[in-house]
Amino acid sequence: MVVILLGPPGVGKGTQGGLLVDALGWVRIATGDLLRAARRDGTALGQEAQRYMDAGELVPDDLIVAMVREHLEALGPDTSILFDGFPRTVAQAVSLDAMLPEIGRRVDGVLLFEASDEVLVKRISGRRSSPEGRVYNIHFDPPKVEGICDVSGSPLVHRADDHPDTVVRRLEVYRAQTAPLVSYYEATPTRVMPVAGDAPMSEVRRRVHEALQEALGVETEAS
Ligand code: AMP
Repeated sequence: MVVILLGPPGVGKGTQGGLLVDALGWVRIATGDLLRAARRDGTALGQEAQRYMDAGELVPDDLIVAMVREHLEALGPDTSILFDGFPRTVAQAVSLDAMLPEIGRRVDGVLLFEASDEVLVKRISGRRSSPEGRVYNIHFDPPKVEGICDVSGSPLVHRADDHPDTVVRRLEVYRAQTAPLVSYYEATPTRVMPVAGDAPMSEVRRRVHEALQEALGVETEAS
């Protein structure tokens, strides 16, 4: 099974992606997390990506596609994959559609998360992340100890690109470059599953499981 999490920054893709992977044992490919890891490791990719990320712009398609290809090649043939934050442009979606058949796959479904800009800005401003990619929210989903990840014990950070000016730019970039993916996928056999993301985490989780079960027959303990 190959499923894409699509939606604006702050809509809860990362949180729901983490929950789904824990529940279903799928492998998550989150390009934002991979880029942040590359930056921490000081790789050439990380250095190149930095200026785009800090400005709230998209990293060039060829760099992203090469990074995803590398991760896909390392996966076994039966691994179910959850893409989070990829594809983000129609060009990336076209590349993915060319890559997947090489490993006998296709995109089965797109979970399309939606919420108003007001909700998104509030979510992003309260967001804190662990270096391992676990996401909390000081308003809606705080860690047990302020500033510390419940799971790893690492200090939580407020991402540079989660600051207000960059957030506005990231929302514009989403509308201009990523939202066209909805009609791209609607014109293919891929199932597009809208999920209203403006509810508490547990309710959104229930909606996600219900959508996956109804549209794709994915059995989960929560559905
Ligand atoms: P995210 O953690 O998914 O919000 O991504 C953080 C930043 O990483 C984005 O604002 C982009 O600068 C960059 N990024 C992540 N995924 C992609 C992608 N698929 N294409 C281009 N840039 C990306």
